[in-house]
This record gives sequence, structure tokens and C-alpha cells, in this order.
Amino acid sequence: MTGITSLRTRIVWSYGVLIVLVVVMLGSLFGTLVWNYYYSSAVSSVLQRAQTEAALHNRMIADEPMKEKARYMLQNMTVGTAHLQLLTGSGAIVIDSDGFGGGGATLDTPDVRQAMAHDRGIWRGRDPITNERIIAVTLPVKEGNRVTAMFRYTASLVTLDRIIRNILWLTVLVGSFVVLLFFTMSVLIANRIARPIRNLTKVAEKMAEGDWSRRAALHDRDEIGRLADTLNTMASELTRREKLKEDFISSISHELRTPLTSIKGWSETLASGDPTDVEELNMGLTIIDRETERLSGLVEDLLDFSKLYAKSTVLHPETLDIRRTLGETLRQFEARGQRESVAIRGDIGDVPLLAKVDADRMKQVFINVLDNALKFTPKGGSINVNAGQEEGFVRMSIRDSGIGIPPEDLPHVTEKFYKGSSQRSGSGLGLAICKEIVELHGGDFRLESVVDVGTTVTIRLPLLTEVQQQVE
Ligand code: ATP
Ligand code: MG
Repeated sequence: MTGITSLRTRIVWSYGVLIVLVVVMLGSLFGTLVWNYYYSSAVSSVLQRAQTEAALHNRMIADEPMKEKARYMLQNMTVGTAHLQLLTGSGAIVIDSDGFGGGGATLDTPDVRQAMAHDRGIWRGRDPITNERIIAVTLPVKEGNRVTAMFRYTASLVTLDRIIRNILWLTVLVGSFVVLLFFTMSVLIANRIARPIRNLTKVAEKMAEGDWSRRAALHDRDEIGRLADTLNTMASELTRREKLKEDFISSISHELRTPLTSIKGWSETLASGDPTDVEELNMGLTIIDRETERLSGLVEDLLDFSKLYAKSTVLHPETLDIRRTLGETLRQFEARGQRESVAIRGDIGDVPLLAKVDADRMKQVFINVLDNALKFTPKGGSINVNAGQEEGFVRMSIRDSGIGIPPEDLPHVTEKFYKGSSQRSGSGLGLAICKEIVELHGGDFRLESVVDVGTTVTIRLPLLTEVQQQVE
């Protein structure tokens, strides 16, 4: 559970940090720009006015005595919204555009000091007399090399400060709103991501507890939807396997019980019967022997099968002419064919068919298939065996004229324990084992059948070309 919470928190956090960062960055950028723009335009407007006036009048009054300068200033210099002061070379206020004398106060603000040093001074700060925030521009009036007087232009910053303050507040407000908005959105997004995962986890937990009937609700066609799909497929597959296993076990028990019952039955009969009845004794022992044979065959098959199924069978492949293996097996069945009046015909050509196979395993396949063909072909029938090449494969077919397999059974006969209704059916493992072995060799195993016409088994194995054979 903590994992899920932390996923959501993590998303919200990462979004949040990002948004706050962006908003703060953009906000401060905007603030700085506004601040600079307003103040620098205020400064430049005062400076421009001052410079224009200075250019106009400085020359006229530079050499005049201070009193004349003052009079001239009051009469000729336009002030506008700015405030103009005449200072002595050492910073004492001579006159003010308001008409006051300044009370003999001496100014020592940075702009004045700058002007005393022969430069124009610009300063923004609190007026030492009125305590008001101002912009001050002070220009020196020079007589030769000496600063004899200074004109000081000041403009109040009260209105401008208020405007800037308002803009900055608005920026902060908008910024907070944006942060809040995005925060809400990130919570929603995080929920959208986390909720399906949480639901999926619940389903997975149920599955982990063994409730395989649970299925994840299908979501959008995104990654999480795919995960839900995969989970569902996995559950179905596991259910299927579980069922397969159950069927397998019940079939085995059933298969084992039949011969065991008959062995037990006969041994009891013999034990309690007349020991001199040789005929009965012989019959009982024959049956016990046959059933024991069947039982060990079954166990053999089962072992084979579970090994093949677990893919733990190790093949010992060798390069060989597959016709040899097939031919040997055919010869093995000759006698049985004659006995059961089934003609076995082999047409395996005279071109070597090289393949890399485990000879013993392949023989097992041929035996199984031929055994089926003989079992399910009535007297007078025939079995035709063919071998040849086909697009990189060795192709072998075993065609019988037997009872055939009904279409509804055909897809299932290669499943383990699946057998037909015929009396002659065995454990039903043969074809399943054949198919596994052939596929383990990289080949394929197919069955075609028509009821009362016959069955054809086709086996294909990868063909080894001459070149490959030389490399081997
Ligand atoms: P086992 O081979 O284990 O002794 P089996 O022969 O019954 O038992 P498979 O070889 O797997 O089992 O065959 C499964 C079933 O497919 C058979 O029981 C039979 O019904 C059907 N079958 C297989 N081969 C043929 C065939 N050539 N003709 C008709 N039916 C066949
Ligand atoms: Mg068989």
C-alpha cells in the first residue's frame, strides 16, 4: 500500500516542484523586468529633462554669481513635475523650485557627491529632508575646472512605487493561482495513474492468494491496460494449466488402476483357487504378465512424457541419413504386418536425407506412429510410408487405410491421455510424445484423417544440406 501512496505523492511532488520552480522563475523574471523598466524609464525621463535644460542654460549662467544663477533658474528653467534645486559647489541648497531657500541645509546624497566629483550623479533613495522616495539627478555647473554650483532634479517615486508594488502583488497572486491550479491538476493526474495500478494490485493480490477466477477490469489501451491484459492472460493460462494437471493426475490414476485391479484380481483368484488347475493358472499368470507389461510401459511413457514436457530431455543428435532409421523401424514391423494381414509398403527413395537427429528418439516416434497405424487398420488394409525432400525439410508420411479419426477428435489426439473409443486404444500418450520429440528437433508433426478412409501422419524435420554437412 505504501508503494502506491508513494507513487502518487511522488508524482504530485515532482509536478509541484517543477511548477513552483517555473512559476517562481517566470515571476521573478517578470518582476525584475517590470522593476527595471519602470525605474529606468523614470530615471531616464528625469535625466533627459535635466540634460536638456543643462545644455540650454549651463553656458549662460556658468560665470554668473550664485544669486544671478538662482534668479535665472526661477525665471527660465521649466520644471514640470520634477523638482529643481540649485546647490553650491559644496552641496548647500541655495534655492528650490518651490521657492524655498532650503534653510541652508547641505546635501550629501550619492548623486551630489558624484556631481562634486565633476560627473553627473544619479541616485534613487530616500530624500534626507522629506523622507520621501525619490529619483535624483545632479549636474555640475563648472567654471573652468571648478564645480561652482549644481542643479539637482528630483522626482517623487511614491506613485511609481505604488504601481510597481501593485504589479508585483498581482504577479504573486497570479503565480500562486497557477501553482494551485497545477497542483490540483497534478493530484488529479496522479490519481488517474495510481488508481488503475491500485486496482490492478488488488486483483494481483487476490490471484496471489489463489483466486484465479479474478480478472482485472480492462482500462485504456495504454501501458497499464496492457499490464491488465497480460495479468488476465496469465491467470487464464495458469487456470488452464491447473486444469491440465488435474486431468493428467486423474487420467494417470485411472490408467494405473485398470491393470492393477486385474493383477490384484487374478492373484487373489489364483491364491484361493485350485493350484492343480493348470489352465486357470496359465491364464492368470499370462494376464498378470501382460498387465505388468502394460503397467511398466505406461510408467516408461509417463517418465518420457514428463521429461519431454519439462523440456529436460537432452537430445543426442547426430548427422544421419534419416532413411536408415526409418528403414530399420519398417523392417521391425514387417513380421507384425504379416501377422495382422496389413501390407506395409515403404517408398523411401535412394537419395540420402540428411538430418541432425537423435536416432533413438526418432525411432521411438516411428514406432509409435507405425504402432498406431497397425492398431487402427483392420485386416487387409495397407500402410504406405514415404520419405522425400520439401523446401529445406525432410518430409516423411505414414498413410494407413484404417478406421480414421473423427474430425472432432483430430485436434486432440496429440494431447496426452487423449484416446479414441476403439478397443485397441492404449494410454493415449503415444502421439503426445511423438509431437514433443519432433518439435524438439525443430520439426513439425501433423495428422490428417478421414473416418473409414485412413489416417496420414506427416513428419517434417529440418534438412541438412551438403554444405552444412561438411561444416559439421
Ligand atoms: P499409446 O500410443 O500410448 O499406447 P494410443 O495409441 O491410444 O496409446 P496415441 O498414440 O496418442 O494413443 O493416439 C491417440 C488416439 O488417436 C488413439 O487412441 C486413437 O484413437 C487415435 N489414433 C491415433 N493414430 C490413429 C490412426 N492411425 N488411425 C486411427 N486412429 C488413430
Ligand atoms: Mg499409440
